[in-house]
Amino acid sequence: MTDHDLAVLVEKEFAPLKITVSAWEKAHYLSRRVCELGEQPLELSFFLLGQSDLVIRDIYLGHDQRVTSTFCKIPLSGVIASALDVQTNYDLQIIGWGHSHGCWDNFYSPTDETTLAEREKLWGVFKNLDFQNNKPKESELAAGQDYYNLPLSQGTLSLINAEEKQRHKAKFVKGQMSQILLGVFYGMTFNAKGDDPYCVIAYSHSGQETCLLKKQKYVIVAENKPCRWDKDDLDAQLIKRVNNLNFLNHLNYLESD
Ligand SMILES: [Zn+2]
Repeated sequence: MTDHDLAVLVEKEFAPLKITVSAWEKAHYLSRRVCELGEQPLELSFFLLGQSDLVIRDIYLGHDQRVTSTFCKIPLSGVIASALDVQTNYDLQIIGWGHSHGCWDNFYSPTDETTLAEREKLWGVFKNLDFQNNKPKESELAAGQDYYNLPLSQGTLSLINAEEKQRHKAKFVKGQMSQILLGVFYGMTFNAKGDDPYCVIAYSHSGQETCLLKKQKYVIVAENKPCRWDKDDLDAQLIKRVNNLNFLNHLNYLESD
């Protein structure tokens, strides 16, 4: 399989991005609201949550983030706090990274590309694509671990967690030419103007360098279980998790004292 074949396969299997109505509305609301609360154009960083079908079903605001009108960053402490919270309190996993460009247009900057590639390495939903259509042996995928098998047009897709990924990497790659290990991770850029998001699929093959498929299409899908969010809750989250807003909030508090 050539690099080109793999890119075609990834696009065929994982595009367009799918996002539920409520997750879509939540991303747009957060992108707009951070600017209202900060009283200036501000970027914002969040994670895209989903399940094994890779539909984006919720938006998770990253902890401890620093934002400006041209920059947003979740430091390692915030990445860890966010990942732990998702792991403990959600029946969804991190399948992508989203961010808002504030009042700028939606695109992917070189910094965005690097960030997405790093996140793909950390969270790329790991897949074992078996082109001979043999299901991976369940016993080989470690009993009791989280994984799912999905039928794909070109084989079986197994999603396994990061620990298992490390453990099985060598095993699957060695001498099994019919199988490849693929990490896939989504990227979406929103803005406060409510423009169409810019979508990217990041993927890597057997732990090699991450490749990006840019300018992907997306579809908004109906849902039977919307993600629940209300505006007061999200305001509180924004003030708590975005350091600038947190700081402004404390200033207001001191002034009113
Ligand atoms: Zn950006």
